[in-house]
Amino acid sequence: MTFWPLTSIWRLFARRPELSIPAPIWSDLLNGLRARGRDIRESGAFLLGPPGQPRRVSAIVFYDEIDPHAFDTGIIVIDGACMADLWAICRRSGLAVIADVHTHPGGAGQSESDRRHPMIAEPGHVAMIIPDFAADPVQLKAVGLYRYRGNFSWDRITPRFLRSSLKIELA
Ligand SMILES: [Zn+2]
Repeated sequence: MTFWPLTSIWRLFARRPELSIPAPIWSDLLNGLRARGRDIRESGAFLLGPPGQPRRVSAIVFYDEIDPHAFDTGIIVIDGACMADLWAICRRSGLAVIADVHTHPGGAGQSESDRRHPMIAEPGHVAMIIPDFAADPVQLKAVGLYRYRGNFSWDRITPRFLRSSLKIELA
């Protein structure tokens, strides 16, 4: 059995954000989500970055860029056949899908559907939920971050241990 000194655990979890996003990409993401949701429907995107840790976003693929009908019903539905386009983008760019993000009309809690239908069903995948259709201003502490454990089970990544689980890189 290995005992981790508490300080090591703190460093491990506190210093490295779960997901970091350069400020210009964060701004593009919020603007893109708002333009697509128009305060009346959910919108979302895949967040791409170099494979492995740390998870740092370098590109956005909005769902309607691979499936033009993704937002039509008000609830996000992506035709599975369109995922081939996403994998093609990843192959071309050398990037991996490191998270997905979608908006909710209300709070950032996961719906039953969110839990049952992970966008990428791989353990470790991170799903972000932005409340209030990403209306300005978005408070980082109100954003929901969830890590998929597999078997339709998720951990909510809370800022209690992860001092800044979502980092927007200013500068
Ligand atoms: Zn949802």
